[in-house]
Amino acid sequence: MNLVLLGPPGAGKGTQAKRLVERFGLAHVSTGDILRAAIQSGSALGLEAKSYMDRGALVPDDLVVGIIRDRIRADDCRGGFVLDGFPRTVPQAEALERMLASAGTRLDAAVAFDVSDQVVIDRNTQRRSCPTCGATYHLVNAPPKRDGVCDRDGTPLVQRPDDRPEQIRQRMAEYRAKTAPLKEFYRGHGILREVDGSPAPDEVGRLLVELLSR
Ligand code: ADP
Ligand code: ADP
Repeated sequence: MNLVLLGPPGAGKGTQAKRLVERFGLAHVSTGDILRAAIQSGSALGLEAKSYMDRGALVPDDLVVGIIRDRIRADDCRGGFVLDGFPRTVPQAEALERMLASAGTRLDAAVAFDVSDQVVIDRNTQRRSCPTCGATYHLVNAPPKRDGVCDRDGTPLVQRPDDRPEQIRQRMAEYRAKTAPLKEFYRGHGILREVDGSPAPDEVGRLLVELLSR
């Protein structure tokens, strides 16, 4: 099963991708995580991406398409993958179609998460993440066991630089202008599936499994 998860920032793509990976044994491919790791390692890719990410803008298509091209060739993607946060523009989606066709495979579904603007603002504002393992928490809905530190490795949690109000607004604007049109793109390909992303994570997970089992 090869899946794409679409949705505004903070819709719950990462949270649900991790569940799908566990349940179906898929590879988790998050362009946001890959880019943040590149920033941490101080690579040329990271340096270039940081200037866009810090202000809530999308990173140029050629950079992310290059990342995905290498990543989906890896062995762990052979048994299926979840693309979390890619594609985010129509040119990225077209590049993905070409890559998959030349590898003799295709997407099975593009799942779009529906959430209101208020939910988007709340989830991004209250998100905290672990800079060591990438685990995400929500100060109210999914708090860590001990205040301010990761349950798994005890690292102090941080707020992503793009989870501040001005950057959240910018990411929402980018989503509306460039990513939301992908719903029509995948509807046209007959693989769009829509899920209500507003209930609690367990319920969204249940809806998702139901939808993918059809
Ligand atoms: P995305 O990958 O779409 O940006 P995340 O999965 O990182 O979204 O979730 C954003 C924030 O919202 C995190 O703090 C996460 O703990 C929280 N969250 C995710 N899904 C839900 C949900 N269904 N209900 C409430 N909070 C959620
Ligand atoms: P969220 O879904 O919460 O916005 P992500 O971790 O998916 O978070 O993305 C964070 C940032 O990384 C984006 O705002 C953008 O700058 C960059 N990014 C991630 N994926 C892409 C992509 N496919 N195309 C362009 N930029 C991307």
